[in-house]
Amino acid sequence: MRIGVPKEIKNHEYRVGLTPNSVHEFVDHGHAVVVESGAGLGIGSTDADYIKAGATIAATAAEVFAGAEMVIKVKEPQAVECAMLRPGQILYTYLHLAPDPEQTRALIASGATCIAYETVTDAKGGLPLLAPMSQVAGRMAIQAGAHCLEKAHGGEGVLLGGVPGVAPAKVAIIGGGVVGENAAQIALGIGAEVTVLDRSLDALARLSARFGAGLKTVYSTRAALEQTVLESDLVIGAVLVKGAATPKLVTRAMLGRMRPGAVLVDVAIDQGGCFETSKATTHDAPTYVVDGVVHYCVANMPGAVARTSTYALTNATLPYGLAIATKGWKAALADDPGLLEGLNVHAGKVTCAPVAAELGYEH
Ligand code: NAD
Repeated sequence: MRIGVPKEIKNHEYRVGLTPNSVHEFVDHGHAVVVESGAGLGIGSTDADYIKAGATIAATAAEVFAGAEMVIKVKEPQAVECAMLRPGQILYTYLHLAPDPEQTRALIASGATCIAYETVTDAKGGLPLLAPMSQVAGRMAIQAGAHCLEKAHGGEGVLLGGVPGVAPAKVAIIGGGVVGENAAQIALGIGAEVTVLDRSLDALARLSARFGAGLKTVYSTRAALEQTVLESDLVIGAVLVKGAATPKLVTRAMLGRMRPGAVLVDVAIDQGGCFETSKATTHDAPTYVVDGVVHYCVANMPGAVARTSTYALTNATLPYGLAIATKGWKAALADDPGLLEGLNVHAGKVTCAPVAAELGYEH
């Protein structure tokens, strides 16, 4: 199969769909890979590295899209990219369609077969292509939150771990999945007082078993959530309802009762966010303040640590990508029900039930 890897064009997005090593794997399996010139510079890989791995280089994205049977990317296609897709072409990337009716319309209009990383499942019902970025974003959330809590960045001026004689900051993590677990690991490591809220008792039990008495776990009723949020210095939004828009768990009314200079980091912003006042921000201008509370809502957090993230992502996407390229998408999806769950749009129709339900399409 002919594989195309364009340069990512979203604001401050430095990741790339394939590393030179993963290009090598595709080429070893008999596929041809075309990479847009400069696509790997954000992870320190030059055109020469890709050529050495067996790729050919195209000068423009238009050439990459025109020649490819499958386009492999990282972020959802931007409007100019959607316009370059064609019927029968495979798009393999993150899409996050539920909160994005405009992109959904563009992908329907393209006629392409669009497989979204974030809805592919594994045998245990986990999300193997979301997990590596959730690990990165969860760990980064505490780093970003710590930075925002500094006075110069609008925060209340507290150090997460405190110092001897001064209490540490309180961190609330809403959602104890992959993001939540990784955020908890870093927050506990830095010495903060950490509470994780979730509606899944299994998730809470797993975290409790892993972190022991150092971590407080709370079943997330409305009252418990409100009480924990109001007491916290840093709140991490890490909720996911697969394929659907995130429920708004922290309301505008709660903000005025939080500590001035408290910080919300809404990692779940790519699915719409779990704070009522969240709106997506970029690495250029990552924060804004509502009612004295600092909001950090960067939708592509892992893009800032592009090299770590690209290697983590391609470790996970490579086997599925190879299956699609080698068997063809129909056979690959028929052989793996988890990969079939990744099919979000095909031949002008929305094929992912939660996305269809969210945006009012027939499924
Ligand atoms: P996950 O499925 O591993 O975990 C989600 C958790 O949320 C689950 O434990 C679930 O039980 C819990 N949950 C669901 N509804 C809840 C509710 N009402 N109250 C409390 N908990 C609830 O998902 P994940 O991989 O940790 O991803 C979390 C979010 O982070 C997703 O929206 C994902 O897209 C997003 N994400 C964003 C970035 C970014 O750059 N901003 C990067 C990676 C992941």
